[in-house]
Amino acid sequence: MTLTGNLLIGQRAVTGSREAIRAIDPATDQALEPAYAGGTGEHVAQACALAWAAFDEYRETSVEQRAHFLETIAEQIEALGDALIDRAVAETGLPKARIQGERGRTCTQLRTFARVVRAGEWLDVRVDNALPERQPLPRPDLRQRQVALGPVAVFGASNFPLAFSVAGGDTASALAAGCPVVVKAHGAHPGTSELVGQALAQAVKRCGLPEGVFSLLYGAGREVGIALVSDPRIKAVGFTGSRSGGIALCQAAQARPEPIPVYAEMSSINPVFLFDAALHNRGEALAQGFVASLTQGAGQFCTNPGLVIARQGPALQRFVAAASAQVQRAGAQTMLTPGIFSAYATGVGALAENSNAEVAASGQPPQGPNQCQAHLFVTQASAFLADPALQAEVFGAASLVVACDSDAQIRQVAEHLEGQLTATLQLDEADLDSARALLPTLERKAGRILVNGWPTGVEVCDAMVHGGPFPATSDARTTSVGTAAILRFLRPVCYQDFPDGLLPEALRHGNPLQLRRLLDGKREG
Ligand code: NAP
Repeated sequence: MTLTGNLLIGQRAVTGSREAIRAIDPATDQALEPAYAGGTGEHVAQACALAWAAFDEYRETSVEQRAHFLETIAEQIEALGDALIDRAVAETGLPKARIQGERGRTCTQLRTFARVVRAGEWLDVRVDNALPERQPLPRPDLRQRQVALGPVAVFGASNFPLAFSVAGGDTASALAAGCPVVVKAHGAHPGTSELVGQALAQAVKRCGLPEGVFSLLYGAGREVGIALVSDPRIKAVGFTGSRSGGIALCQAAQARPEPIPVYAEMSSINPVFLFDAALHNRGEALAQGFVASLTQGAGQFCTNPGLVIARQGPALQRFVAAASAQVQRAGAQTMLTPGIFSAYATGVGALAENSNAEVAASGQPPQGPNQCQAHLFVTQASAFLADPALQAEVFGAASLVVACDSDAQIRQVAEHLEGQLTATLQLDEADLDSARALLPTLERKAGRILVNGWPTGVEVCDAMVHGGPFPATSDARTTSVGTAAILRFLRPVCYQDFPDGLLPEALRHGNPLQLRRLLDGKREG
């Protein structure tokens, strides 16, 4: 497939008319062809009108049809071959192996949602049969299933050009739920977005679905993004990016005459708690594991360990010395975009100038443009508790060690934290009581709590939670990774006293889809 620089409005390739963006190769700072002229409010309206026109037909496709569609998208992405890998490498500066792995994850996500759709549990069918003889009042026949919310706007993430972009987790879960999707491509990787968009549009065509099931737009967030979130035909939003961007979209969604949910994944510093025995027994190994997690992918993961919390003393000093030695050896790595590099430099500069924090170590200096030099800082708990600036996310390979003078102060620091995607506990047997005392706080603060691991690396599976209280996300009740992500785009409808022939198939008396229903209070086997 060749790159055209066009928007995809349903099956139609359309040239935008606003200022064009070109991807920048962050390794060279060179602009890449073609130019992507931005869409207008009119283009947004056309894509949303098509999505709305497709909605009723698409949401009632059979589970088999929809699962087959998701699998066809995966096949079409794989058929793009090296062209996709090469373009994504050029647009992001990420290593080829990482992009290949991410393509695998993207296709696995789509196939996993195909399995979920076929299994039908997401329909969550509940049946309360009529009790006409019940006294003092009879009970009507009541049947509940989940239905799709409506067309969903998806904002591609800069840091996962495949797995959280055009056909990434938000799109896969929305399509699985029965929602048409309009994607606003991230301006950092328009070519990668176009290739995947063409693959997705091809899958729509091959599966004979209405064209409005998928559209792809380019353009400035303040025009295209806000118009998309404000369009009355859009019923939910999926977003991964900055705190300010996520908040702007939440405000736009709330300001509509009909407010809609925004599932924004924004900002997390992912605290790691090093308990006394673990720190004493294996401080060096912990330092190695921590720095490997911190510097992986230039630290450009939402689960990057940006905060380490421990009791001060010789064991913590040895840990900081060992981690500093590792950080000093870490080579500088190209970041995703000049903008992300500049935000990192600003964040690190602010910490370096903060009189409450001290630079413990800096990594190897940059050898080219947009390179992230790793940094480790240390501070005292009293300063951390007093200065909100020390809690700001620095997106990249920077972390802050907070030295506490007691278990009680560790709990105070934990209580002071904003909402997080993850919290990590490094503990040995002797630390269990201290960890247990911290758990209630961490359950209130984080979406995933890990023991003796590192937060980077998010498994796509049924039990995963990639979410958490604000500002980690805008809605702590859900996850954006894993199969439970489908629940974000569904809502329950109850059918009362319907004749069998009028009921949706999933709710009919004979249970033709052979679903495991909740029938008169008991789960069917
Ligand atoms: P971003 O600036 O939030 O942009 C993400 C998307 O949202 C883009 O399509 C952008 O469009 C749009 N957008 C941003 N602000 C908007 C607004 N006010 N109104 C409407 N649309 C808006 O995120 P980014 O470019 O990926 O990275 C910037 C920073 O975000 C990073 O330095 C990092 O701090 C943070 N980040 C965090 C995570 C995480 O997982 N925690 C992941 C990625 C990035 P335009 O590009 O046209 O503005």
